[in-house]
Amino acid sequence: MTGTKAIIETGWKLDNSYARLPKSFFTRLNPTPVRSPKLIILNYPLATSLGLNVQALQSNDGVAVLAGNQIPEGALPLAQAYAAHQFGHFTMLGDGRALLLGEQITPSGERVDIQLKGSGRTPYSRRGDGRAALGPMLREYIISEAMHALGIATTRSLAVVTTGESIIRETEQPGAILTRVATSHLRIGTFQYASEWGTVEDLRALADYTLQRHFPDVDTDENRYLFLLQEVIKRQAVLIAKWQLVGFIHGVMNTDNMALSGETIDYGPCAFMDAYDPATVFSSIDIYGRYAYGNQPHIAAWNLARFAETLLPLLHVNQDQAVKLAQDAISDFTELYHSNWLAGMRAKLGIFNEEPQDKSLIESLLSMMQKYHADYTNTFRALTFDKPEDTVLFGTTEFAQWHELWQVRLGRQQESKASSHQLMRNSNPAIIPRNHRVEEALEAAVKEEDYSVMERLLDVLSRPYAHSPEQADYSTLPAPSTCRYRTFCGT
Ligand code: AMP
Ligand code: MG
Repeated sequence: MTGTKAIIETGWKLDNSYARLPKSFFTRLNPTPVRSPKLIILNYPLATSLGLNVQALQSNDGVAVLAGNQIPEGALPLAQAYAAHQFGHFTMLGDGRALLLGEQITPSGERVDIQLKGSGRTPYSRRGDGRAALGPMLREYIISEAMHALGIATTRSLAVVTTGESIIRETEQPGAILTRVATSHLRIGTFQYASEWGTVEDLRALADYTLQRHFPDVDTDENRYLFLLQEVIKRQAVLIAKWQLVGFIHGVMNTDNMALSGETIDYGPCAFMDAYDPATVFSSIDIYGRYAYGNQPHIAAWNLARFAETLLPLLHVNQDQAVKLAQDAISDFTELYHSNWLAGMRAKLGIFNEEPQDKSLIESLLSMMQKYHADYTNTFRALTFDKPEDTVLFGTTEFAQWHELWQVRLGRQQESKASSHQLMRNSNPAIIPRNHRVEEALEAAVKEEDYSVMERLLDVLSRPYAHSPEQADYSTLPAPSTCRYRTFCGT
């Protein structure tokens, strides 16, 4: 009985609305127990905001839940079914190594998914082992929390535990489980699954569920499924613009990795760009650069078109009309994305009002950055403090001319220099999770069981707009290397 008591004290308050969808959307399944769970990291502020007690979570019973060895009261673990276009090819997927425990109802009344990632095989595992390695789970923890601190909608990371079991990737790795928190795990791929293998009634049930969960203020008089499509498009336009503005490269924007909530999801081969170059790709499997930095807005539009296709039977009884509605909604994405991006870029340059020439001012800065291999984050940070650093870009006449134009532009707005500077501070991060810093933290954690490097990194990343002296150390670039930084999907 003590186990149950401790779990109740932990503060789990789980509901299972997803389990009330038609049965074909999931498979009920408990996690596969692991040998000897050990808590590696726990997100205190997130736990507290979810109504969970951090002491209880750290107890044996608390950790047993995070490892999948105990099922908290109210949980109804299940693997979600979904399909996807992976690098353009349609396929059936589903949670191959994750289980939804349930939806935690937070003290403020929000509903969030609690998912264990790496919790064992499921009917959707295909040839996978259902497990995850410590390095990639800590990587997801670091980058998702950094994204959250940057003000970008994202799934969150509550905890990482090691399992006491080894798993085989290229080498033997410590096994681990990440507890992921998301406003939901509904994806474009969930709709693709319903559209391909479900009935229209299944599809309608899923669409109604998504509306209720993410867009409850839908007006009953309007076409609710068109509203769903338009709102998902709007949220993606905001999200992708934010990625571009900080130089985030998702790396694997398959349609299963695009959440309808508008949160960034699935941190696999993602990484931040150093030198500005739209062609930047880190993922070892992205041979053709499909998911390169500069391609992300196009891919988002492509993925959203796949989403729109699934909704056609719900949009209108007349198919031509349905296609027209879908096409109009999709064609809005580009404009929505662009206006979000432009607004964000103006802020990065301290500009409050709008002038038609702003776009070319921004574009000429970016093309100089590309030409002179200027670091994306550090260039904007240097401009924020108007302290051009000793880089090739800042030494050129081209830049001097641009700088003058920019100053004149700032002079044409009413806001003071000080408010312009403040706007730039709040829009240009002092630091991002630099790839070499993330690797260094993971290496210490995985090879030496030294978590201090990661904890320090997480601490500085939690205040990206602080521009504090301790962050300076984290903004230095990696030593020049002959090998390009590569990320891997084999997580
Ligand atoms: P991702 O690349 O993380 O979006 O994963 C694509 C698909 O592969 C999803 O269905 C995952 O659940 C599945 N998957 C990834 N790794 C594993 C694994 N180790 N075992 C089983 N399924 C996996
Ligand atoms: Mg995925």
